[in-house]
Amino acid sequence: MSAEIWHPFTQHGLGEPIPEVVKAEGAVLYTEDGREVIDAISSWWVQTHGHCHPRIVSAIQQQSAKLDQIIFAGWTHEPARQLAEGLSGFLPAGLDHIFFSDSGSTAVEVALKMALGFWHNQGSSRNRILVMDHSYHGDTIGAMSIGARGVFNQAYAPLLFDVGSIPFPEQGNERAALDALTAFCADEDNPPAALIVEPLVLGAGGMKIYSPETLAEMHRICRAHDVLFIADEVMTGWGRTGTLFACEQAGITPDILCMAKGLTGGVIPLALTAASAPIYDAHFSKDRAKTFFHSSSFTANPIACAAASANLQIWRDEPVQQRIDHIISCHQQFAEKLKKQANVSAIRQCGTILAFEIDDSAGNYMSALGPALLQFFAQRNILLRPLGNSIYIMPPYCITDEQLSAIYSVITDAIDHFS
Ligand SMILES: *Cc1c(COP(=O)(O)O)cnc(C)c1O
Repeated sequence: MSAEIWHPFTQHGLGEPIPEVVKAEGAVLYTEDGREVIDAISSWWVQTHGHCHPRIVSAIQQQSAKLDQIIFAGWTHEPARQLAEGLSGFLPAGLDHIFFSDSGSTAVEVALKMALGFWHNQGSSRNRILVMDHSYHGDTIGAMSIGARGVFNQAYAPLLFDVGSIPFPEQGNERAALDALTAFCADEDNPPAALIVEPLVLGAGGMKIYSPETLAEMHRICRAHDVLFIADEVMTGWGRTGTLFACEQAGITPDILCMAKGLTGGVIPLALTAASAPIYDAHFSKDRAKTFFHSSSFTANPIACAAASANLQIWRDEPVQQRIDHIISCHQQFAEKLKKQANVSAIRQCGTILAFEIDDSAGNYMSALGPALLQFFAQRNILLRPLGNSIYIMPPYCITDEQLSAIYSVITDAIDHFS
């Protein structure tokens, strides 16, 4: 008898079908029962250039035959060095120290530990983390602690640490968020260690978008009060928001930046946390007690590093930005059409991400509309995964006009069907 697979974010008790994928290429998934499915959410926000890009495939093949895995404490290797060299042309200036891990959640945990270590190693007791309402930073205990609380983490609430929460900067009411941030920063009895945000777009929180000006202002407030600024670019990084990193649009360099998903083109797990010189310097010492005490077995896995270098090469050699700009303009045209639909609201776009709400009186994640939509799209061979009644598109950049049209058309059908 085979062991039974327990899938993530899946209620097996509902008996919903789980299709099997046998092959993928570009934006298309091929299922075992002969269907071709368009991947409209980049396989959960990770794929940037599309599935099985030959350059990344080849980098993985070559590296895996040469050096597969090696301890990274006290040892190094060419793929890591090469990636570090290459990244210097991509990372925001001033983020010169990179620490590897294996997922977005661990990149965030590393960022939190770096921030606390920064203060601790200087004899400061600052340890409070500030967060934004509706944020998502991952599913490990620390990452859940700084994320939105709800049904997803109710059972684990006793393990989660306390944070200071500022409201989401709703358009037109940004002041409330900025004032709350200022109040936390100015609290001399409990001065914060760091603010962590998803820059410009809150992904799992429902594709909530706020302006670059607000992001810049939050950064300015933190600076003015010596509060570290952590940007979680795990989802927004690698072109999703129209620029390589979302922080660019605000003209800011965070003290710490987390990336994962698109770092290898979304092919193989690799994450990194980039830190500014002061963060690194606070750990640099002859004193072993000030060491950055973090590791995971597969830190800087050579195969993953080679895949990430291939990703950089694709960004250098292929018209990636043009592809992104093209998706942006296609989305804009579709958004205009959506505006004419009666039961659609909150149409919003940030770069290659287009989102809107289908009006629904219950209007929450557990509402029946979400699963019904999911099924509607699945039956029409489109991989879309609404967040409650929020539908969003986040395609890989290789998507063709034909595939985009197919996605838009199925969405239009869904709006008609559910109205
Ligand atoms: C997906 C995501 C994470 C977690 O990344 P994993 O690789 O799934 O652990 C963290 N932060 C943000 C903003 C994300 O979208």
